[in-house]
Amino acid sequence: MPPISNTGNLVPLFAAEPSAETQTTAQLLQLSSHLQTSLDLETILVGFSDDLQDLVAHDGLDYRDVSRDVAFARGEKARHRLNYDLTINGEALGSLGLSRRRKFLAEETQLLESLLCALLYPLRNALLYRAALQAAHKDPLTGVGNRAAFDQALAREIELAQRHRRDLGMIVIDIDHFKVINDDHGHAAGDCLLKAMAATAERSIRLTDRLFRYGGEEFVVLLPETDSRGVRRLAERIRRRVADMDACCEGRAIPITASFGVACLRADETGEAFFKRADTALYAAKQGGRNRTCVAAD
Ligand code: GH3
Ligand code: MG
Ligand code: MG
Repeated sequence: MPPISNTGNLVPLFAAEPSAETQTTAQLLQLSSHLQTSLDLETILVGFSDDLQDLVAHDGLDYRDVSRDVAFARGEKARHRLNYDLTINGEALGSLGLSRRRKFLAEETQLLESLLCALLYPLRNALLYRAALQAAHKDPLTGVGNRAAFDQALAREIELAQRHRRDLGMIVIDIDHFKVINDDHGHAAGDCLLKAMAATAERSIRLTDRLFRYGGEEFVVLLPETDSRGVRRLAERIRRRVADMDACCEGRAIPITASFGVACLRADETGEAFFKRADTALYAAKQGGRNRTCVAAD
């Protein structure tokens, strides 16, 4: 018996033109298999919209999930809209809308509704994946970005700053004598203070600035498009607010202070060297008596 080989040329059994129905089924299969190839939410929605064009033409597609803080839109918004709230077994998965200048026909609406069924599970997987990625970059105690998020953000901000010749500032913050606070008031009070510290810093920065917990009782702020005066001013504002804050932890108001190291990115500087300069400035603030800000040389 000759061996079965998948390397030979395949000869089609029928050379006839495929019917419209066969073509639609093939497109449906293609759409369904495309949706299985990615876990990235945007890739899935773009792929869905692309594959859908031949079946239900549309000028715009948007997707929104307020509870998960997701918003996606492509194309143009037009007069006629189809909107769907998506759910799997009662679990809300956001809402999807199509819009078009021309009215949608009844058979197009019907077809779209059956295609949306193929989108549901890939969409839910992408949302779960997104949540897992976000959790992996979040410090569970304070809710701010963790060390991994900082490393990623630093690389990205340096690339942007160097490409567009923009300023980039960094503040490294370390709580003073935190070990003594833990020893005197207990670990739970220490944790509570870390949360209060993060909240105070978060309240003091701009929307474009980003706060991270670098580790233990150390935090870092990245400040895009901020010159050295601006970075120093912000560090001082956070420092004063921390020193003035009356954090009530475990039923007691526990005073704390923190020390600050500040640096601005040099041309062609690596992330490692940039952080090291800010951290050395922090060390100088500790040596200088704590509860103060020291600035790295430009
Ligand atoms: P310095 O002013 O020189 O920074 O002194 P310090 O005591 O703050 O510094 P040190 O590095 O000696 O101690 C840091 C302490 O932070 C040690 C540890 O008990 C505490 N710490 C680190 N992570 C956590 C945490 O997640 N929760 C609590 N409660 N404490 C933590
Ligand atoms: Mg420390
Ligand atoms: Mg400390």
